[in-house]
Amino acid sequence: MSDSLFAIPPDVRFSCTQCGDCCRSWNVLLGPGEAERIEGLDWAGREDALADVAVTAPVAAGKLTGRRLARRPGGACVFLGADNGCLIHRHFGEQAKPLLCRMYPFAFVRTGGRVAVDCSFACRSIARGSGEPLEVRTPEWLRLLEESPAAEANAPRLDAKRALKPETLWELEHGVAELLNVPELPFFVRLRCAMQFAELSANGDPEAPMAGELRGALRSTLPRRMAARPAEGTMNATQRALFLQEVYAHLNPPPEGEGPRQMREREWVAAGEAFRDGRGNPRVDGQELKVSWSDIRRVSLEAVGAAGEAVLARWLTAAVVGQRFRFAADEELPFGEAVARLALRYPMALWGAKALAAERGTASVGVEDLQQAIRLIDRAAGRIPLGNLDNKQRAAVEFVLRETGAIEAAVLDVTHGRV
Ligand code: SF4
Repeated sequence: MSDSLFAIPPDVRFSCTQCGDCCRSWNVLLGPGEAERIEGLDWAGREDALADVAVTAPVAAGKLTGRRLARRPGGACVFLGADNGCLIHRHFGEQAKPLLCRMYPFAFVRTGGRVAVDCSFACRSIARGSGEPLEVRTPEWLRLLEESPAAEANAPRLDAKRALKPETLWELEHGVAELLNVPELPFFVRLRCAMQFAELSANGDPEAPMAGELRGALRSTLPRRMAARPAEGTMNATQRALFLQEVYAHLNPPPEGEGPRQMREREWVAAGEAFRDGRGNPRVDGQELKVSWSDIRRVSLEAVGAAGEAVLARWLTAAVVGQRFRFAADEELPFGEAVARLALRYPMALWGAKALAAERGTASVGVEDLQQAIRLIDRAAGRIPLGNLDNKQRAAVEFVLRETGAIEAAVLDVTHGRV
């Protein structure tokens, strides 16, 4: 194995700040043998309160089965100390922690001979872009990989019917990442270029000998063409309802923790329907805001500026390079749908940032609002099970997502305070 094995998202940085968020937010799934090892730790004389409590719990969520770390009421891991430190780490050393804890905020996906490094922007350090460059972590990642090989992604697909060679997928991804980072263009135009590139690349046979050359030509001509093409549109009632449904699901992650799962999910779905229909004040991070829909519409996005655009570019590029964009909670998405779902995160992040700014009582969005909205969306992204949608709902969502004009209309509606 060598360092070049890893596909590392550009410009992402990380140093743990011991905020403890990750130990409160996630179910830590345990790998083979880990539950027995963790249950066997001897706490007597170290943390007596842990000697008699269940430290693991069963998992039964969709296709997932096995055991996870137990959580306290409120969601914190049973091993989280009062000072946000990990009690396993303190008493038994870092190596004694579950593998997922040692890997976070990273995960590895193996696709055709390379290992993509997925970065969670739910982590404050990653979202802020603060800390060390990721390259310094490769020796540690090589050790973690030896301990547990990266998950192997299924053979990539272009759409429901057509498979893609991994090399073609990399080239397509490279095109999307390059277009998301054209420096002279506003971010919205870059996103339109990336969506258009994905749409046009799906025409004909993407593996044909000339197709690579055509994609090369697209990459160089799209920025000028899309910059000259005016963006226009307003969401119709159906598109608006579906957009709001997605906004709700991504800004209010599905509930985890103790208690009857189905009851928690029923409440989550009911709150989502109220949000979609504009009943009451909107919700963000599971809480009803003190501000109304019209307060949020009035918040300006103008002050986000170049710093905000850099945050958005880093986030969405990392999702492509790290392969996060290709996964929903319970399935691997074809390339075309994955790019459309990725693009939809942009208007969702703008709406979320406006809502957070309104709640703070300010008239315009700051970069921190955008970072916080991104953290919520990334926290939810791997948890929203598409398999729960019935065929009719799934087809309706796909209609919105695959219609480039609908995503553009969502951006314009959010930007101009119409939603
Ligand atoms: S075991 Fe330690 S690092 Fe892992 S979630 Fe619990 S407190 Fe956090």
